[in-house]
Amino acid sequence: MPAELDKIRNFIDGQFVEPVGGRYLDNIEPATGKAYSHVPDSDGRDVELAVAAAEKAFAGWSHTPTADRSRILLRIVDLIERDLEKLARAESVDTGKPLSLARGLDIPRAGSNFRFFATAILHTESEAHITDGVAFNYTLRQPRGIAGLISPWNLPLYLLSWKIAPAIACGNTAIAKPSELTPMTAYLLCEICREAGLPKGVLNVVHGTGPNVGAAITAHSKIGTISFTGGTVTGRKVAESCAPMFKKVSLELGGKNPNIVFADADQDAAIAGSLRSSFANQGQVCLCGSRVFVERSVYKDFVDHFVEKASQLRLGDPLEATTDQGAIVSKTQLDKVKFYVDLAQQEGGTIALGGSSPEAINERCQSGYFFSPTVITGLPVSCRVNREEIFGPVITITPFDNEDEVIGYANDNEYGLASSVWTQNLNRAHRVAERIHTGTVWVNCWLVRDLRVPFGGMKQSGVGREGGDEALRFFTEPKNVCIAK
Ligand code: NAD
Repeated sequence: MPAELDKIRNFIDGQFVEPVGGRYLDNIEPATGKAYSHVPDSDGRDVELAVAAAEKAFAGWSHTPTADRSRILLRIVDLIERDLEKLARAESVDTGKPLSLARGLDIPRAGSNFRFFATAILHTESEAHITDGVAFNYTLRQPRGIAGLISPWNLPLYLLSWKIAPAIACGNTAIAKPSELTPMTAYLLCEICREAGLPKGVLNVVHGTGPNVGAAITAHSKIGTISFTGGTVTGRKVAESCAPMFKKVSLELGGKNPNIVFADADQDAAIAGSLRSSFANQGQVCLCGSRVFVERSVYKDFVDHFVEKASQLRLGDPLEATTDQGAIVSKTQLDKVKFYVDLAQQEGGTIALGGSSPEAINERCQSGYFFSPTVITGLPVSCRVNREEIFGPVITITPFDNEDEVIGYANDNEYGLASSVWTQNLNRAHRVAERIHTGTVWVNCWLVRDLRVPFGGMKQSGVGREGGDEALRFFTEPKNVCIAK
């Protein structure tokens, strides 16, 4: 493993290197509020070095036989599995999420991402089109060159590996920038890639802030492919930077997802599922169902039972096995959550549960960024709290009277990432799913992910789709070869 775990370094051309400017940022552990390592505060000069390395590596990697690329990626999977405990702990310390969640979801999923694309590239098909008696056409799908991969803090390794794996599996080289708030697992992944035999320069990781590093990546003329996951406001800046160069861009952005519970649903399942979709990772999953709509005839019962179950979630030190709810990622994010809870009260809402930071968790966590699971009722659908993404453990619950009304509520939002529908009526399930404007509709479940399906958002939740064939197509350039008969 890297010798200095307290000082993260960039990974460029197969080497761990200091940032050119020699500057570092504090890397804060959210559960304690204290710096526990330092992350490079890199800039355009470091991106320039990464581009040179990625450019040099492209010639060899793009011509490496698919089977060899696949073998290296599968070795990465083995090493992620070998280091699962270490990676999970790093992820938990870095993000504040419960260790059990990092161990059970984030890190295994990072391994699955590499396995999925390592094997997918062995099974791709090429299209051929015969133009009557005139010509044969076939389509080459070639790697595009250097891919810039920018990710957020909420699921750091899970989301970054979801980009790195397809990009390099297809024969591109990559420059990745994890969030400056949660850089540790990306750092550990670099060592894994090196040990797995990934040739130098194929994956480069440049740490630092969005304005310094992210913007240098999106503005670089030699990085023609940009895959970005993060907030909608940042996504707009990325789009503006890429548009004049006609870069190929995928944007996975924010969400304000509706979670609809009909009276005919299995109420126990709906409550259990809604509890997860509301508060998983302290509500810091882009797919969390932060707007819960419940049919009026079961509304009171639902609220009572939901609040009772939510009050039983154990908020605690993320590293303790009994913890269900850990820390919020940063002071800034905690302040944002508090702002919206205050706003909810100004907008006429009632706090049915939570609404504040808990008493000190334990000695170690007394300065950590914690907030209790919070349920707000009585808000109009059109208010700011119901329209804007909070990205924390705060949900609203609103009654509705019929299907048309709730579909109107669900769609009356600038976001369109995901939704959940709870009903036992099969016809209704299909009908509602068809009419909701979100990239994913879960019926009687939440966060069930098959890596083959297209993943992404509508409206302000993004442009493009990740996952399966969509990712393989995104990271390759189709070229038609037309041969006259
Ligand atoms: P963010 O937009 O602040 O940052 C995301 C990344 O972009 C970070 O690495 C950041 O350093 C970088 N960045 C910032 N400014 C940049 C710029 N000008 N140019 C290039 N890069 C820049 O988002 P965040 O706060 O880290 O993450 C939370 C957001 O991410 C939420 O809105 C959430 O919904 C969204 N998200 C979306 C998905 C999805 O799949 N749709 C998944 C996870 C998170």
